[in-house]
Amino acid sequence: ALSGNRDWKPAWRKPDPKPRYDVIVIGGGGHGLATAYYLAAEHGITNVAVVEKGWLGSGNIGRNTTIVRSNYLLPESVRFYEFSMKLWENLSHELNYNVMFSQRGVLNLAHSPGQADAFIRRGNAMRHGGVDAEWLTPQQIARKVPGLDTSGSARFPIAGGLLQPRAGTARHDAVAWGYARAADRRGVDLIENCEVTGFLRDGDQITGVSTTRGDIRAKKVALAVAGSTSRVLQRAGIERFPIESHVLQAFVSEAIKPFVNCVVTFGAGHLYMSQSDKGGLVFGGSLDFYNSYAQRGNLPTAEDVMSEICAMFPAVARLRLLRSWGGVMDMSMDGSPIITRGPLPGLYLNCGWCYGGFKATPASGYSFAWTIARDEPHAINAPFTLSRFERGAAIDETGHGPTPKLH
Ligand code: FAD
Repeated sequence: ALSGNRDWKPAWRKPDPKPRYDVIVIGGGGHGLATAYYLAAEHGITNVAVVEKGWLGSGNIGRNTTIVRSNYLLPESVRFYEFSMKLWENLSHELNYNVMFSQRGVLNLAHSPGQADAFIRRGNAMRHGGVDAEWLTPQQIARKVPGLDTSGSARFPIAGGLLQPRAGTARHDAVAWGYARAADRRGVDLIENCEVTGFLRDGDQITGVSTTRGDIRAKKVALAVAGSTSRVLQRAGIERFPIESHVLQAFVSEAIKPFVNCVVTFGAGHLYMSQSDKGGLVFGGSLDFYNSYAQRGNLPTAEDVMSEICAMFPAVARLRLLRSWGGVMDMSMDGSPIITRGPLPGLYLNCGWCYGGFKATPASGYSFAWTIARDEPHAINAPFTLSRFERGAAIDETGHGPTPKLH
């Protein structure tokens, strides 16, 4: 950098789109890039383009609070997110790129005997599925996280906490860059500033995409556009889809000395907080509860989040807030994702990540690539179909996770 970046080589090429590919992946977020990487690395399919309307990593992959965990209740989710956790544990080596994966633990605080029971039940389900989980008493929590108000006179006294020691955080945009560079090195074309404006079709069959950089044909078109899913599907003539888009905000404080060494979540409301390597506290809360495609949020939600963090960590009230931003979440109706063929022939769909798609990035890319390459799901994504909504076979994680009553 001191040389004015003169001798720096770009981490990936900037190719023009070719007229035709085997696979086009729409969306250069974490999931799209991971999918392209695993198509090349696991299935030898390298004639692949990722088309991104902005720059790589401009969406939610670069906007999240970076929490990685597999502390779910339902067996389908436990299997999927634990598969992801195992990929995370080797990701920096696999990509030869430091994604700064830090297994510092995620601690879910419970604030009533009923909530403690529910969390212990989830901890038992996790252990049953081979995932690490520990129950901590208020005394153990006070020793582990000294900044917390663990007194009996706290606004919401702490009844205990569920800890997943292997959970943690990662550097979010490094994940995008790592997958991008590794996919590019295997021959994948990463095409930025290229918005998909329509679909090429032969009857119902999808045969390519129209973009702001011209038409591109492909045998298979895979959609991984997160909060833009319903808008892009409209361009394929699908008007109604079980995904709602909502803004989720995140916040960073000024940098301070080491204050909290794990991720802590507040069960009396909805708040999650960790400290970045630079020293800032990184935190977020619930959605802005109206539909929006704007990447910014509103002040009442910000106020709500601030009041929660001050209830949990009173000392934080004196800190200054440095930045806030928003991302557009693809909320499914049961809190679980969709990774499947369809809904039209030649089209493949990856969406419905709600609050939790960052941690899913490796497993999502792995299983989506598998589904595209083999035209059948991998065992971990087989339950996450679109037809589950028609069949009433919802995988309802909304009421069970560490963040109850999300919708
Ligand atoms: P994105 O990065 O949004 O990628 C989609 C891409 O599609 C975008 O780059 C977009 O520009 C592109 N696109 C859209 N339309 C088109 C088009 N027509 N043509 C071409 N390209 C198009 N998850 C966790 O697991 N842990 C967390 O702590 C966490 N915290 C979060 C906090 C916030 C504030 C937010 C916003 C999200 C958080 N998430 C978290 C969720 C997670 O970030 C998302 O679920 C995940 O990043 C979504 O997948 P993606 O990375 O592929 O999405």
